[in-house]
Amino acid sequence: MKAIILALLLLAGAGIYFYVSSDAPVLTVDSVKVIGNATPLNVHVEDPHGIRRLDVEVRQDGKSYSATSVETTARRFLIERHAKPVTLTSTVGRKSMPALHDGKAQIVVTVVSNDLRAVSAEKAFDVDVMTAPPTVSADGLQHYINQGGSEMVTFTPGGAWTEAGVKVGDYTFRSFPLPGHPGQYFSLFALSWQLDPGTPMWVYATNPTGAQARSDFWHKVFPKQFHSSTIRLEDMNIDRIVNQIDPDHKIPGDLVARFVYINSAMRKENNKTLADLRFQTEPKFLWTGAFLPMVDSTVEARFADQRTYTWQGKTVDKQVHLGFDLAKLAHSPIPASNDGKVVWAENLGIYGNCIVIDHGFGLQSIYGHLSEFLVKKGDAVKKGQIIGKTGSTGLAGGDHLHFTMQIDGVQVNSVEWWDPHWVKDRVLSKMGLTLEGADAPTAPAEPEPKAKAHKAKAAAPKKRHH
Ligand SMILES: [Zn+2]
Repeated sequence: MKAIILALLLLAGAGIYFYVSSDAPVLTVDSVKVIGNATPLNVHVEDPHGIRRLDVEVRQDGKSYSATSVETTARRFLIERHAKPVTLTSTVGRKSMPALHDGKAQIVVTVVSNDLRAVSAEKAFDVDVMTAPPTVSADGLQHYINQGGSEMVTFTPGGAWTEAGVKVGDYTFRSFPLPGHPGQYFSLFALSWQLDPGTPMWVYATNPTGAQARSDFWHKVFPKQFHSSTIRLEDMNIDRIVNQIDPDHKIPGDLVARFVYINSAMRKENNKTLADLRFQTEPKFLWTGAFLPMVDSTVEARFADQRTYTWQGKTVDKQVHLGFDLAKLAHSPIPASNDGKVVWAENLGIYGNCIVIDHGFGLQSIYGHLSEFLVKKGDAVKKGQIIGKTGSTGLAGGDHLHFTMQIDGVQVNSVEWWDPHWVKDRVLSKMGLTLEGADAPTAPAEPEPKAKAHKAKAAAPKKRHH
C-alpha cells in the first residue's frame, strides 16, 4: 500500500514538474556590427510558454541605455502551452540614447520565459557606434575615359565610413589605400564597353548604418565605335570545337544548338568565373610600367567586336568578343604581360587552357586557348616570362592567343595598358608613383600590336574566331 502511494506521489510530482517546467527560450538577434542614430535590430523569440519579459539594451562605459522593455503579466501555473514565436524590431542608436558616443559599445538582449521556472536567455555582442556621417572628396584632376577603357581616381574619405570606392552606373569598383599617402585612397575603374557614354559616375563612402556621402569628379568620356561582323557557322570547324569542349555530349541538341549553348550560356558562366577572380587580388602593386603585348603578332579580333552568328542564313546567336585575338606561329611562347601572381591555370570552357595573372589592386590579365601551361596557380611571374604556348583549346578556330585584361572583374580594352604614355599619364602620375623604369620591359611596349599581314605563319585556318 505504502509503495503504491509513494509511486502515485512520485508520478504526480513528475507530472507537475513536467507541467510547469520549460526549456530556455530560443533567442535569435540580428548580427549587427555597427549602429548609428537609429538602427533597426530584429529580435526573434521562440518560447511555447510565452515571454514574461524582454529587454534590449545598449551598454557603454559602464552605463546601460534601454531600447526596448516589454513585460507581461506573470504566469506561474496556468501557463500558456502554445505561444507563437515573437519577432520584434527594436531601434537602437543615439537618437533615443543621446549620451551614446562614437566608439565601442555592447548590445545585450535578455528574455524571460513566462512560467514557474522563469528560465532566461541572453545574447550580448560588441558593436561600433558610428553617428558622424561619412564624407568624401575626390581629386581635382581631369579624367579622360574611353568607352570600354580604364581610369583611376584618388579621393579622401572621412567621418564614420567603412567602405568607399567608385560607382559607374550599376558597377562598383573597390578602393585601396594610396601607397605613400596616408588617408588617401584610389580606385581603378572601368566604363564597361556596353555602358552609355553618359553613364553617371562618382566616388562614394558609406557605412553599415546606411549613411553615405558622394563626390563627383571631373571626367570626359570618349565614345567608341566597336567593330561588328557576321560569322557563318558553316565556315567554322564547329564540329571540332564543340566536341573538344563537350566530348561526352552532355549538352543536348544538334551541333548548332550545342555550339550556341557553348557560345552563350557557357561564355556567360566562364566570364563570371573570371570576374570572381577579383577577390584573389593582392593589396599591392605587383606590376611596373606598361604591359607587354605579344609582339609581332597579327591582330585577328579586337576588344568588343560585335558578332552575329548565322547558320543557313539565319541568325542563331549574338555575342561580344571581350579581348584581342593575337596570332603568330602555332605554339608560340606567351610572355607574361607584367609581374604578378598566377591565380588561374586550368581549363575554362570557351577559353580552353587559360591563365589569369593578378597584378594587384584588382588588375588582372587573361590568356586563353593555350596548348601548354608553363606556370601553375600560385606562381609569381615576371614581365616577359614565358607562361605557356599558344594553341586552339576551347572556342578557337585556330592557333592564337586570346588576351584581355580586367579591373575588379570588368573586362577592359587592353590597348591602354599596352601604351606606356597612357599608363604614365592616366595612372602613375595621378598617384605620385614612379613604378615605371624599376623593371624595364624585356620587349618594346607598343600601343597596339601591329598587324603584319605578310608574316609567314604555321598552317592555321584563316578563321580563328571565338
Ligand atoms: Zn578571342
